[in-house]
Amino acid sequence: MVLILVLQGCSSLGVYNPATGRREFIMISTPSEVAMGKNVHRSIAQQYKVLDYSEKWDRIRRIAGRLAAVSDRQDYQYNLHLIEKDEMNAFTTPGGNIYVYTGLLDKLKTDDQAASVIAHEIGHCAARHTVKKFQAALSYNILSSLLISQIEEDKTKRVTALSANTLMSVIFSGYSRQDEHEADRLGVKYMHLACFDPAASVETFEVLKSESEGAEGILLFRSHPYIQDRIRDIRGEIPLLERKYGPRPSSCL
Ligand SMILES: [Zn+2]
Repeated sequence: MVLILVLQGCSSLGVYNPATGRREFIMISTPSEVAMGKNVHRSIAQQYKVLDYSEKWDRIRRIAGRLAAVSDRQDYQYNLHLIEKDEMNAFTTPGGNIYVYTGLLDKLKTDDQAASVIAHEIGHCAARHTVKKFQAALSYNILSSLLISQIEEDKTKRVTALSANTLMSVIFSGYSRQDEHEADRLGVKYMHLACFDPAASVETFEVLKSESEGAEGILLFRSHPYIQDRIRDIRGEIPLLERKYGPRPSSCL
């Protein structure tokens, strides 16, 4: 109860996040988040075949680099990883780690379509949805020790002490509907600023929709019942991009 009151008190102070336009109270510092991301990556690399440094990886790494450069969040480095798995999936872990499955990438014919998936995931990172999801999974004991401890190293140790099973279950727990819409809007913003065609986001949804008829458990598609809402939302957002974020950089031409 005390902790809840403290958290509520702090969230009104919080730190302004330009991606969301809100003040947010994040207890996991960026160095702790990066350390947590490395832990998670070790678990992922044990369970999946990570194809980093392949030709396919190189293609999306370059796309991700352009999008990362225009992200609202620049306090860590984004890392793009490719997982060999015949499933249409992509997800993000703490510390700016973005994972794309070959099963999804192979269905996306253009760089703009591939960019739409990565831009959406960078949106989750910038809006700090990912770290908030992990923060919510931390126990009362860890949270209170983060509040009390002044030593960065101790905080990092506590945050990274979460078991691999807990970390993996948080990754696959999905985001709220509101977070998905926010990541969609940030995604088209970053595509606009990084010279990709934001309309490709709608194409990607159409590809996912036609490919996944009847398929279960697709993370990008947790939101299945309201997929049409997301498409409508993105279609509404695209004509506003110039007004909100200025014309596309002249280097796009
Ligand atoms: Zn998402």
